[in-house]
Amino acid sequence: MKLALIGIGQAGGKVVDALLRYDRSARSSFVTAALAVNTARADLAGLELIPPDKRVLVGQARVKGHGVGADNELGAEVMAEDVDEVLAALDDVSSTEVDAFLVVAGLGGGTGSGGAPVLAHELKRLYTEPVYGIGILPGRDEGGIYTLNAARSFQTFVREVDNLIVFDNDAWRHTGESVKQGYASLNEELARRLGVLFSAGEVTDGQVAESVVDSSEIINTLASGGVSTVGYASARLERRGGGFLSRFRSSSSDVDDGGAMNRVSSLIRRATLGRLTLPCDVSGTERALVVVSGPPETLSRRGIERGRTWLEEETGTMEIRGGDAPVDSDFVAVVVLLSGVTSVPRIKELQAVAIEAQREGQERDATSADNLASLLDTDDELDALF
Ligand code: GDP
Repeated sequence: MKLALIGIGQAGGKVVDALLRYDRSARSSFVTAALAVNTARADLAGLELIPPDKRVLVGQARVKGHGVGADNELGAEVMAEDVDEVLAALDDVSSTEVDAFLVVAGLGGGTGSGGAPVLAHELKRLYTEPVYGIGILPGRDEGGIYTLNAARSFQTFVREVDNLIVFDNDAWRHTGESVKQGYASLNEELARRLGVLFSAGEVTDGQVAESVVDSSEIINTLASGGVSTVGYASARLERRGGGFLSRFRSSSSDVDDGGAMNRVSSLIRRATLGRLTLPCDVSGTERALVVVSGPPETLSRRGIERGRTWLEEETGTMEIRGGDAPVDSDFVAVVVLLSGVTSVPRIKELQAVAIEAQREGQERDATSADNLASLLDTDDELDALF
């Protein structure tokens, strides 16, 4: 599937960088265009793979390249004011080369949190291709303002995109890592999942899939709308003399053997029951897509069928698509995209904490206005200067 990626804010830009890195290292070619948008000049300079002429600084008139802090209302305003500059950077991308847009942002901050829903709205107005969002939820320890930003952005972003794939930083925190190291490995994890999913059908090394996952399968799965989560599991293959591929190619009776079938179906279970980008109860899923990627001879069709049947029971939906994506690799990897999930405790918790934070903020504003008034109250005995 060919994508135009647009990363907004610091997290958005870094995740797009990580997706570009995956695209190059996996020799796939699902990225047609990659753009970073920010209000902070320094964050744009810190990116590695997004071309310099595809890094757009917005809000210069308002914040002079210094960012919007964690003010997502300001983030939304500057994006609305400068959206034409962002769209101009996409001018050279012909929509015939793009199957969908992917707008990526951390929802807890300011620029991405406020700007992503605004840009998604404009893209949907201008293009007929679907516009998907990748929304990153802040960790619980980031504090009330990040939670409030994320909850408000989430509910706006999900309305403006055709589907919002969510990654919860909180579920993915590793102990003992610096925040920076932590983000780098989280971005890699996310890029690997999205990379396997979106590069299905786009791998360029001449492999032909048995039942190819093409862009319409992904689009149909995401067409349920709402919120999606992604699961992943992989198994390393043992290379024996002459390499894995040659071993299988020389013995066609091995194709689709019981071992390959069990491996694929158990990877589908592990991907679904393991850590999802957004942990949830999978039983409320509306649609799902299974992509199995690896050397052609390991991609057991019977394994995929067995895994799909199991997933139908587990999710309660019949709308489960599946296919394979052959790549020359030492791994068999499975991605399970669960689209239209509804039973997500983390979102409920985020909303409850945000409502509380909003109420406290409003009370604080009201009291501080009263306190200031009483501080300045001189019973009109003093005249103001002008
Ligand atoms: P912005 O630049 O104002 O949009 O804000 P940031 O993108 O810096 O931060 C928004 C939120 O994204 C933070 O609260 C973090 O939860 C998260 N975040 C920041 N950088 C990264 C990153 O590189 N990876 C991930 N997964 N999350 C990040």
